[in-house]
Amino acid sequence: MKKSKPGRLGMLPKRYKFILNPYVDLRLSTCPKCERLTYPRKFPLFIHVGGTDPSYFSAILGKTCKYCPKCEIIMAHKDELDPLIEEQRAIVAPALTNKEYLVMGTVELKFWKKSLTEPQGRDEVLQHTAQFKDHLTLHYRPAGWYRDDED
Ligand SMILES: [Zn+2]
Repeated sequence: MKKSKPGRLGMLPKRYKFILNPYVDLRLSTCPKCERLTYPRKFPLFIHVGGTDPSYFSAILGKTCKYCPKCEIIMAHKDELDPLIEEQRAIVAPALTNKEYLVMGTVELKFWKKSLTEPQGRDEVLQHTAQFKDHLTLHYRPAGWYRDDED
């Protein structure tokens, strides 16, 4: 996943670190950093879709992720997120051909729940959005795929 450097997103202080897990066979039942058990927790994720394409859009998806409270790391599985984002794209921006997306932060749960029944403008959403502190990359190789002389 490319790390983009957009301007500061959202009005809330930066919060959480984020991992987008591209490995289908890795379900992250333990935290890759501290190795404690993770647990499922629902986060409204603020997602930028379409890269630099002029018809880019932002989506907020309520998604149950794996969470490590000690490290404050939110982990989402790419294979679960992809179809949800594609569904949104087909509705919001069917002409958008750039399917890149970047999960940028979280929206306050309470505000997000309210927005489901009372749609909110972009400014209001950003008032309740916190950008991630960092995006972490998983360095994972399935057992047996690497040799001892590799690091
Ligand atoms: Zn941890």
